[in-house]
Amino acid sequence: MIPRVTATVDLAALRHNLGVVRRLAPRSRVMAAVKADAYGHGAVPVARTLEAAGVDALAVACLEEAMQLRQARVQAPIALLEGVISSEEAAQAVYERLQIVVHDHWQIALLEQLPASARLSVWFKLDSGMHRLGFPLTEVPRLVETLRRHPGWSFQGWMTHLACADEPDNPFTDEQIARFEAALAGIPGPRSIANSAGLIAWPRARTDWVRPGLALYGCSPMPGSTGAELGLKPAMRLESRIIAVREYASGEGIGYGLTYRCPERMRIGVVAIGYADGMHRAFRNGTPVLIRGRRAYLAGRVSMDMITVDLREVPDACVGDPVLLWGDALPAEEIAQWAGTLSYELFCGLTQRVHFRHL
Ligand code: PLP
Repeated sequence: MIPRVTATVDLAALRHNLGVVRRLAPRSRVMAAVKADAYGHGAVPVARTLEAAGVDALAVACLEEAMQLRQARVQAPIALLEGVISSEEAAQAVYERLQIVVHDHWQIALLEQLPASARLSVWFKLDSGMHRLGFPLTEVPRLVETLRRHPGWSFQGWMTHLACADEPDNPFTDEQIARFEAALAGIPGPRSIANSAGLIAWPRARTDWVRPGLALYGCSPMPGSTGAELGLKPAMRLESRIIAVREYASGEGIGYGLTYRCPERMRIGVVAIGYADGMHRAFRNGTPVLIRGRRAYLAGRVSMDMITVDLREVPDACVGDPVLLWGDALPAEEIAQWAGTLSYELFCGLTQRVHFRHL
């Protein structure tokens, strides 16, 4: 059986991208973000690959994601970026040797309910200006005091997250870094600031630990650039097939709402991928796909199982031809813009109907 839609994940590209990250931040340890099923790339094969390539730690959002990795015998340190929401979760995290990223006092209270002998491993997350998760910087002295009260806790370090690192001209990133460093002046413990954009565009953010996600999957977080321009290799290729080709007269409308009108007599190809596969309905007329190495363009709305494409640039296209939706020859960063989104969301939006191959 030929799968309708295939996402091929190139594990060698992941290893290559880890190498690029290491060269950018040679003095930093690397915590790879593999949350959200490794940004839709498949958490277990991605984590195994990065672990074998020597990544220093992995980061997931929550306990459930970490358990999936531990059940697959991934042994690397794993940080829970959201921390824990109950003392049962905290106990489980200890049992699974997870690092808990603590972002509020109520989480400290949960951890304090565990027996003093529990081998807790914690990060403290500070809010240096993004105002999402994290302790206010003024809480640092209290946190230092908390660590003093709990000499048995294994303290991993201080973490913060950047709000605007993908905007190279925005001074707020420097401001966040400066606030973070000032609040911690003279206080021991590793620092972790940079996501992919921080690591790529803000050398000051390359501290003891960097936490790339997107860059490892081969995409650029910087608007207007692609991963390839940064020496990265896209790890995912998404492909489907043409399942029908028809010719229509000038003026005929295509698909729901007839939102595309044929400007001349022309062939339209129907491709077996729709929003039920993760092809966002927001994709507009003109979104490119690649057939026989040439670009064809979305013509009409994305339906649940299909898209329709203008085949004028690919006159020899026929039923059965593979169609590339994104991959190295068609950067996901560029495609995402046609749906008003980012490559992150394209990857995470793939559904269970997509067949995955890890090579
Ligand atoms: N660190 C934290 C706390 C995050 O939430 C994320 C992802 O959103 C990352 C690191 C990785 O970000 P990116 O994929 O932009 O490198």
